[in-house]
Amino acid sequence: MLPAMTRRTAVLFAASLLFGMAGAYTVKAGDTLYSIARANGTTVAALMKLNGLPDTALEIGQELRLPGAAPAPATPAPQPPAKPPLPAPLPEDQLTPTPPAATVAGVNIRVPASLRMGEAFIVQLSGTRAAQATVRFPSEVGEDVRRPNEVLKPVGAAGEYVALGRVVLGKTTPVVYEVSLNGELVRGRIPVVGLDQPIQHLNLPTRISGLLQDPGRAAEDAAVEKAYALRTPQVWTRPFAPAMSGVKATSSSFGQPRTYLAGGPVAYHFGTDYPAPVGTPVLAVNDGKVILAGKYPVRGNLVVIDHGAGVASLYFHQSKLLVKPGQTVTRGQKIGEVGTTGLSAGPHLHLEVRVRGEGTNPETWMNRLWPR
Ligand SMILES: [Zn+2]
Repeated sequence: MLPAMTRRTAVLFAASLLFGMAGAYTVKAGDTLYSIARANGTTVAALMKLNGLPDTALEIGQELRLPGAAPAPATPAPQPPAKPPLPAPLPEDQLTPTPPAATVAGVNIRVPASLRMGEAFIVQLSGTRAAQATVRFPSEVGEDVRRPNEVLKPVGAAGEYVALGRVVLGKTTPVVYEVSLNGELVRGRIPVVGLDQPIQHLNLPTRISGLLQDPGRAAEDAAVEKAYALRTPQVWTRPFAPAMSGVKATSSSFGQPRTYLAGGPVAYHFGTDYPAPVGTPVLAVNDGKVILAGKYPVRGNLVVIDHGAGVASLYFHQSKLLVKPGQTVTRGQKIGEVGTTGLSAGPHLHLEVRVRGEGTNPETWMNRLWPR
């Protein structure tokens, strides 16, 4: 049921429209206290205390205060707007003149008009000095991003310089980007929409879920974090290709919010699952270098390929690995076989495409040179 908007909700809505006040959030389908806390750099406990919540249950349309929000004013409420308000605009002089296109110091900039949660995207730069520009995403500060607001130099072929961006899962606030060159700076923002996936409750058998407490997990996570920190030059020159021929993704796919145990915390699915029989060949999605190839408690038999430019692909749960760390691989090369090793309930390939360590939707890369 959709509860009617309360008076306080309406006041907060109006206040955020008028003053661009941060700190209020309206619960959407698929949200959990965990996802909201993660997206806003706070904790479930802090949100419960701040909002006087008796438990973690949320209703769609419910208004939550976020840390730093001013208390609701006690004045009568105006009528609520028919639609949720647009994000508060930046001051006029900080906006791109006609998004999604702008220029800075003679360099032309293009960005997507809108983005989805968990999407990879590019800031396209063209012009003779495009390669000298730097790009930052200041909106990543305060989000759960490994190295927020990294200073990026555009990469790519002459005439098509790009900087890769990504929208972290759990985040629906606009992406803010900055392009600077020779002391000139352009800043713009791109609206983000959610994925609207209901939470999937897996209730895994303890035989499988026990892996989440495996003592080897810390070493496993440290190994992949090291791979995420790589910043090597781009090595691919051809479009990305599917990791298996003729296999479709399942509904339990990218960005799906899940609980693994009854009542357990919600975690996002950072990859896409492709069910296939054990032994089905697993193929490298593009040229690169094998960074990890080994057996881990959660990811099972895992291969991580670094493609350069901060892009890595990960292949989980394989039955057999055919590559070794340090090995160079080419697009379409068989790197292993489908299995059900690690935290897996049946034979499938879990494929991830990470951009500077953050999960992005693999489908946005397939059959393309860049995500778009
Ligand atoms: Zn998966």
